[in-house]
Amino acid sequence: MSVRVTKSEFGKTSAGKEVELYILSSSAGIEVGVLTYGGIIPFLRVPDRAGNPVDIVLGFDSIAEYENGRGYLGALIGRCANRIGKGRFTLDGREYTLACNNNGNHLHGGINGFDKKVWSAVVENNKLILSLVSPDGDEGYPGNLSVSVSHSLSDDGVFTWEYFAKTDKDTVCNLTNHSYFNLAGHDSGDVLSHILKLNSDSFTNTDEKLIPTGEILPVEGTPMDFRQASPIGSRINQDYPPLQLAGGYDHNFAVRGKTGVLRSAAFCYEETTGISLELKTTLPGLQFYSGNFLDNVKGKAGAIYNKHSGFCLENQFFPDAVNHPYFEQPILKAGQAFRHTTSIKFSAR
Ligand code: BGC
Repeated sequence: MSVRVTKSEFGKTSAGKEVELYILSSSAGIEVGVLTYGGIIPFLRVPDRAGNPVDIVLGFDSIAEYENGRGYLGALIGRCANRIGKGRFTLDGREYTLACNNNGNHLHGGINGFDKKVWSAVVENNKLILSLVSPDGDEGYPGNLSVSVSHSLSDDGVFTWEYFAKTDKDTVCNLTNHSYFNLAGHDSGDVLSHILKLNSDSFTNTDEKLIPTGEILPVEGTPMDFRQASPIGSRINQDYPPLQLAGGYDHNFAVRGKTGVLRSAAFCYEETTGISLELKTTLPGLQFYSGNFLDNVKGKAGAIYNKHSGFCLENQFFPDAVNHPYFEQPILKAGQAFRHTTSIKFSAR
């Protein structure tokens, strides 16, 4: 039993930079593609209960489509995942203004976030390590930030991202992956019948632009309660203001347990393929996004992605945390190390 890592050319960016595709494959038949462009996962194949490979992530066929497409399909997000209200924050007494790309707010690292960069790649001990230096002032953020993200697959089907960063000036750092999953296959329609369990007792309420109001609301008695496994779609259209504001689920859930400890945050199962995933993370929050803004997106191999064709489980510090002092802070101090891990175990039964 062993895991293999292979490399091939995938294409070039519009600026002429070569992009490589790495494939991590386990002897049990799981194959995870990783691009040096944006750290994107373009495909992730898991054998279903009968042993047939199913590609369970949404994606595109070419770099040009990733460059021009919207929705951050499969991408590595940084410097700061999720929204920062008005793109502003104060750190060490100084106000910073970031690139705004979402209704006057900063989303997922800005206009040229980490999802749009070509990363350097090395393979060490069967791990693929992608690295990047984000220069002082990049998208408005202070400090030269050196980032490396290790990608590994174990023979028992666990895919792991280990995030590491350091900076020469205090800055914001909050890295995640933005894969859209559809455990019935990326081209199989909506995910509303997937069964989801979230280990969260509360979530952050937002305004209509999805910026946190600062309230942390209990899920108890609301359609946000996934403490018992339930279909994603069973309550999605209820007359509940947080769901209506977002057109479905697009909320940050507080992961039960302690930040820094790798603990189970989410479990999802799909009946027709029998494929399930269990996600663990060291991070405090999980943005559960039910693909509400997908609309006639022309995906790989002729697939069309519409509302709810996939769902994301984005592990991160809470949205806009830099502007809410009582949320855990995604601040990386000069000389300190950012270390966080998210892993997903894939299986079928
Ligand atoms: C956000 C959505 C946003 C989407 C972009 C998600 O992480 O929560 O609000 O539209 O990313 O594709």
